[in-house]
Amino acid sequence: MTFPLPPNATIGIVGGGQLGRMSALAAARLGYRCHILTPEPDSPAGQVAAGVTLGDYEDPEVLRAFAARVDVITFEFENVSAAGLDLLASLKPVRPSPAVLRLSQDRVAEKTFLNAAGVPTAPWRAVDSLDALHAAAAALGLPAILKTTRLGYDGKGQALLRAEAELAPAFADLAPHPLVLESFVDFACEVSVVVARGADGALAAFDTVQNSHRDHILDTTLAPAPIPPETAAAAQAMARHVAEALELVGLLAVEMFVTADGRVLVNEIAPRPHNSGHWTIDACPASQFELHVRAVAGLPLPPATRHSDAVMKNLVGPEETALWPAILATPGLIPHLYGKAEARPGRKMGHVTRLFPPGALPGPFGIADALGPLAPAGND
Ligand code: AMP
Repeated sequence: MTFPLPPNATIGIVGGGQLGRMSALAAARLGYRCHILTPEPDSPAGQVAAGVTLGDYEDPEVLRAFAARVDVITFEFENVSAAGLDLLASLKPVRPSPAVLRLSQDRVAEKTFLNAAGVPTAPWRAVDSLDALHAAAAALGLPAILKTTRLGYDGKGQALLRAEAELAPAFADLAPHPLVLESFVDFACEVSVVVARGADGALAAFDTVQNSHRDHILDTTLAPAPIPPETAAAAQAMARHVAEALELVGLLAVEMFVTADGRVLVNEIAPRPHNSGHWTIDACPASQFELHVRAVAGLPLPPATRHSDAVMKNLVGPEETALWPAILATPGLIPHLYGKAEARPGRKMGHVTRLFPPGALPGPFGIADALGPLAPAGND
């Protein structure tokens, strides 16, 4: 198969979640089929794809069967083992490259890479023993956040350490080692940038957005971020620089902290579509999912322009999912549901977007009003 992929070619997506679902919907509009690799029967992505290989991400036979059905492979889920990635890459082109996926799987590798590329992060230390943790806490000061190096998401695998006595229990609780100790950033806000890079090196970055979390899970995204233009521009420049330094082919989300004095620090990167880019489906001519598919397929990248301001609110768990009928009955709310059968607490079930004319994104009270039944309660 040659690039650009011709219409009707098949894009293999590792992972069956909502990011794969929305990528597959965008791919279908461009005339591609998607084939999903997932262990989950009736997955959100599998429901809307041309085909599914059901099986374990680590089983070589499953990976071979998947690769045989597709023309190019991409990911909506990064945690495939190095051996699995190598096997896939020996069979079909993998975009983004296995090297980029490996970096994003490992906080130590990721932060080492970012700092070497001149990208600032919170001060951090890798710790592989309790002694090393004590030394790191002495060097960085408390409070600090202890994080697992691998397999962390939505705040899982993290502990906030406020006092010396909390070090030993947290070290024993979190696994596997080594862990990463990071200075606690007393941030003014959290922002992110989703950037696509094509095989020809062309870059397209969506506007800097502001994210609010609840219980460590993304709750609301405001596009554009209501921050000074120079801070938004610094975040843009950083995300573009990271995509170039990675020689990325695909899509990358860069999550950042903005400090009270306006500095921008990278928290983490994810080489795939990102929850903080869901607003682009409704507010942009070409969404993050279309840019993902275009980069993976070797198509030209359109500019990541925005025709509207937007607020995106996640629908998490049974309580917010119960508001679905009210959401559907509220004019102006653009509903998205992911096809998950069971609304467990903390599970992302869908999201809604509300659009505003450019420049008319309201302040916090207006946002609450605009979300109607989903008005955030005491959003910080
Ligand atoms: P992470 O799993 O690294 O994306 O962290 C999840 C969330 O925890 C972030 O979005 C922040 O809200 C918070 N957090 C993570 N690291 C830090 C830090 N060093 N300082 C302050 N808050 C943090």
